[in-house]
Amino acid sequence: MIVRRHKLTMRIVLALPLLQLLSWRQTAAFTGPSLLPRNDHTVTTMTSSTRLYSAVSAPPTPTKASEISQVDEISPENPLKVLIAGGGVGGLALAKVLSKNPNMAVTVLEQTSEFKRFGGPIQLASNALQLLKVMDEKVYNEICEKFTTTGDKMNGIKDGIRSEWYAKFDLKTPAEKRNMPYTGVIDRPDLQSIYLDNLPAGTVKNGDAVARYEHVESGIGGVKAVLESGNVITGDVLIGADGIWSAVRATMRDAPRRGDGSGATYSGYTLFAGELKYDSFDHGEVGYKVYIGPNQYFVVTDIGNDMYQWYAFLARPPGSADSIEKPEGTSKYLQDIFAGWSDEIHHILKATQEHEIEQRDLYDRPPSVMKSWTDGRVALLGDGIHAMMPNLGQGGCQAIEDAFVINQELSEATKRSEVVSKLQNYQRRRLIRSAAVQGLSRFASDIIIRGFDTPAKIVRDENGIRFENFNYAGIVTRMLQPILPIFFVVQFNFLYDGWENKRSVDLASALGFLLVGGLIATLSVGTLGEAGLGVGLGADAVFGTEGLLDFDAIVSSIQDFF
Ligand SMILES: Cc1cc2nc3c(=O)[nH]c(=O)nc-3n(C[C@H](O)[C@H](O)[C@H](O)COP(=O)(O)OP(=O)(O)OC[C@H]3O[C@@H](n4cnc5c(N)ncnc54)[C@H](O)[C@@H]3O)c2cc1C
Repeated sequence: MIVRRHKLTMRIVLALPLLQLLSWRQTAAFTGPSLLPRNDHTVTTMTSSTRLYSAVSAPPTPTKASEISQVDEISPENPLKVLIAGGGVGGLALAKVLSKNPNMAVTVLEQTSEFKRFGGPIQLASNALQLLKVMDEKVYNEICEKFTTTGDKMNGIKDGIRSEWYAKFDLKTPAEKRNMPYTGVIDRPDLQSIYLDNLPAGTVKNGDAVARYEHVESGIGGVKAVLESGNVITGDVLIGADGIWSAVRATMRDAPRRGDGSGATYSGYTLFAGELKYDSFDHGEVGYKVYIGPNQYFVVTDIGNDMYQWYAFLARPPGSADSIEKPEGTSKYLQDIFAGWSDEIHHILKATQEHEIEQRDLYDRPPSVMKSWTDGRVALLGDGIHAMMPNLGQGGCQAIEDAFVINQELSEATKRSEVVSKLQNYQRRRLIRSAAVQGLSRFASDIIIRGFDTPAKIVRDENGIRFENFNYAGIVTRMLQPILPIFFVVQFNFLYDGWENKRSVDLASALGFLLVGGLIATLSVGTLGEAGLGVGLGADAVFGTEGLLDFDAIVSSIQDFF
């Protein structure tokens, strides 16, 4: 225990001088994920209709490296050729905003041969919605038409056994104060089709994955995307928006896409998700609720049109979908696991049919602080660089923030020779913020599953006084109750204030994470152990865990901001 406390103190002590060092140069949510993304994370399809879009064309044909423009100046006559590997949440948002600029010629290289309608809902928080609005008013308005707002409703954490509210978080006030749209959810296929319908015809090339890239060293320089088919597409810039198992990232790091050495690790958690038509007792009043209790948790979200989504978040070894038998079906399996928990959980579980349930293991990456996000004219975006746990519903939102910043930086370039430094600016502007959200997302999983328990409670009834759940974790959970609302305020301030990713990153808000999160981690140390202090929310969350912590390098990297 003494050793652990010492480590935590060291982390905060390390962080403080850094903040002091930087403060002279500048002043200085718990919301939920939705169903599965439409990509190779997805285990099962939930809806079947398939559609090809006007922005989509046949697989590309071979291109010669000499086709690259040899003119340094970027203009409508010699536009910057931007290749985007991956047409997911981030790739399509980037393609749309760049394609509005006559100085840009955009091609999306997507591995799937067609875009299918599956994937369930995704939560878009106020920070991402604000960006979507700024990037393209038409796309934003179309999103709003399909959107279900949850940020104006009651959201929060419930005691999973007693069904009482434990802590509520206010998503409405911080959005209103900043004149930002309310958080809500949209079906991934709807989001995708809005983008595809709004992209110029031929922008998206389907059916041939990017296998790797090569730099074009001759002439004015460029980059070649080598596709699985052997075809080569040449451009001025390549953005790796190809998700958690990114081939662009693997090339950049000279590492495998998956498995050992890939940098992506199994989080220790598996997720069961259900999506169904459901008549909830609190319909219209509650958007999102998390039921906490010992060693697991359960979430229910209103996703609009009388549909609900739930998920059960369990600590299990990888591959448990195949290794654990469920002879009576998944719903019954979960009902048994949540035996003794709230009737509200059992009611929705019983209402869910087997085909409405999916399971997937969750993988994430540590913040990539020590290794570059860019390699010359190549940069990584979204899950390709900062894949995170789904607890905050921010993975896609952070990919949208990346798209916004890449567009700003590339649009400022007047010459091809400026592109390398523009991409480096992008990394500098995004690094700390995305690392903090990544760390916070992992912290949220660890603290809820391993730190939280049913809160200790003194019950007075006709039989006298009873002390319920007066164990360490139960008492800590009760002690955290008044702290959590402060933590939520810090979290939403950080997320909503920083949506523009201005160069002077708001380190004060990041420090708020460290301090309030550190307090929570300290209280939870008996139940979280090293996980709470390590991956949790200490300095690692903001300053990274990839590779050895080279403090000098971090300081110099952050000093580049100013
Ligand atoms: C269960 C769950 C729930 C979630 N809920 C939310 C939420 O509510 N809100 C939120 O903001 N985030 C959520 N997320 C996270 C979110 O899904 C991701 O962070 C987001 O999709 C990342 O966007 P991306 O564009 O980087 O990658 P992706 O959306 O994964 O897109 C990658 C694209 O690249 C393509 N591709 C892959 N490899 C190649 C290749 N070699 N060549 C060409 N194309 C390739 C894929 O087919 C895909 O189209 C959730 C994640 C999970 C697991």
